[in-house]
Amino acid sequence: MSLARIKHIVLVLSGKGGVGKSSITTQLALSLSLSGHSVGVLDVDLTGPSMPRMFNIEDAKVTQAPGGWLPVPVHVANPEKGVGELRCMSLGFLLRGRGDAVVWRGPKKTAMIRQFLSDVLWGEMDYLLIDTPPGTSDEHISLAETLLKEAKPGQLAGAVIVTTPQAVATADVKKELNFCVKTRIPVIGVIENMAGFVCPNCAECTDIFGKGGGQVMAKDFDVPFLGRIPIDPQFVMLIETGRRPEYPQGTVINGEDFSKALQKGSGSSTGEVTKEASLLAEKYRGCSLEPIFREITQDIVTAVE
Ligand code: ADP
Repeated sequence: MSLARIKHIVLVLSGKGGVGKSSITTQLALSLSLSGHSVGVLDVDLTGPSMPRMFNIEDAKVTQAPGGWLPVPVHVANPEKGVGELRCMSLGFLLRGRGDAVVWRGPKKTAMIRQFLSDVLWGEMDYLLIDTPPGTSDEHISLAETLLKEAKPGQLAGAVIVTTPQAVATADVKKELNFCVKTRIPVIGVIENMAGFVCPNCAECTDIFGKGGGQVMAKDFDVPFLGRIPIDPQFVMLIETGRRPEYPQGTVINGEDFSKALQKGSGSSTGEVTKEASLLAEKYRGCSLEPIFREITQDIVTAVE
């Protein structure tokens, strides 16, 4: 199997769409790579593959090599800066028109997922993050079955479950936790996304929907709580336009002053709008969400290594 030389495989699950699963996968990947790990992202969300857009590599073409597909580079390793390489494979690359939704019957989806798991030439790599479709569908079951059958002992590190303060109140996320129990996939932890709002105008982070729901739920299910991620419009701008995050004077999140974040970047001019994929990780260093993910990533690395 092409997964043979991957050290840790992590699934990213969510009970429903739109809670930010793909954004979380993207940031986990950037964060792991910024802490020196080599990372691959496999996007098996067949109905709405969004990873090519997240990494700004939508125009990339997947090349076929003897024995399988070559993943698309997001950035290469930079050992001097302690950055590991980041690559991605998504069904989005194989669709003719981006934005095409795939309407396939179960068996074809299952076959595609199997092929994705077996035919991508990842080579040696520290982490493979698998971005799954929302819910617990046939695809999840076939993914879990294939991984549990093919993975070496300990290679399938487990699942990160993404929820929002509102979704915590629904049964969806509990279904994900139950799915993990039934399939015997370890739960690495729960991330509560869109918890609070980083205001672009007034240097405040406001808890719009209240806080703590994800934490309580994680406690109820006896699984680790990995952290809360606020809504940060600067993150959306970074993904959509490539603009380096900027914050008003006095924006302090988790004790860190983000109005100074620009100085941490590579010194490019303020307000620039570029679409250079190679700089995504570098620009992300100036995003208010980066230190939160740095901590989450450290916890994940400690839990699985
Ligand atoms: P899913 O993969 O669960 O469908 P996405 O990751 O595509 O969700 O997120 C849905 C939308 O919400 C996207 O436009 C994304 O940019 C935005 N989003 C998600 N999380 C955040 C966040 N913490 N701050 C700002 N925008 C976010």
